[in-house]
Amino acid sequence: MRGAVRSPGCFAVEHPSSSSSTISESAPERDGHADAPRSLPDCYASLVSFAPWLERGGTAALMYHKLGPRPPRVRLKGLYVAERLFRRQLSELKSAGYDAVDPGALGSQRGAGLRRIALTFDDGFENVLRLGVGPLREHGFRAIQYLVPGLLGGTNEWEQRQGEAVERLMDVSQVRDWLAAGHWIGAHTRTHPWLTRIPLEEAKEEIRSSKRALEDLFGVPIRHFCYPYGDWNRPVRDLVEEAGFETACTTHPGANLPAGDRFLLRRLTARHVSLKWRTLGTWLRVAFLSRRA
Ligand SMILES: [Zn+2]
Repeated sequence: MRGAVRSPGCFAVEHPSSSSSTISESAPERDGHADAPRSLPDCYASLVSFAPWLERGGTAALMYHKLGPRPPRVRLKGLYVAERLFRRQLSELKSAGYDAVDPGALGSQRGAGLRRIALTFDDGFENVLRLGVGPLREHGFRAIQYLVPGLLGGTNEWEQRQGEAVERLMDVSQVRDWLAAGHWIGAHTRTHPWLTRIPLEEAKEEIRSSKRALEDLFGVPIRHFCYPYGDWNRPVRDLVEEAGFETACTTHPGANLPAGDRFLLRRLTARHVSLKWRTLGTWLRVAFLSRRA
């Protein structure tokens, strides 16, 4: 049994129970997924660290939220990926021969030599349309945005309640632009609640109505779902399957194997090198220079 552990921000990191929490260097398979080994960085900044592991099997999905410069006083800095870094990540994937696929391909069998990855964006931020479509087009990649239909054209209210900076969400017309550019959309509930903290009937309605609303608005089948905050449990997972979705993404790091649960897909958090590492680097440089002085 798993539980979602709260972390400050849009997503929570799901932790397995203590009996199976070891992530070893050999990247064990669990529930048909390949956990990211401890030797890898916590977050995906560049392909170079991950390429050897990805070559061993499984299909990865990258998880993004917002693109562009961070406004002042942002709490969750890691949810912003600079346009320059985004371009570099796409360029690396393109050079390495990766093809960007929709989440439906994440659990499917991978042909020999075929390199596939899914590019996923949570929440439907307007800055992804503004800054992401160009680089995606230039590299011939398609991506999916998981939308919150109850807040289209509005702002990230669920984050502002935690003191986060205001960011605009795409409106109906902008979502049409995103689709017209060849990209996909999926559902992320109607209002972005913690699904395990509300009554099951309410969770069911959040899940079902998000699918229905997006299909009515945009006239495309909504096949893919993403748990807000990565928050799920077994009843919630089953509700997503019963609602007619084909896949659901979590925030648990790892790659997806054909035997894996398609409603518990793993993703790698794409972001810049964390401040913690930069701070450590600075500290080491200062320590080194002071020893020489
Ligand atoms: Zn979200």
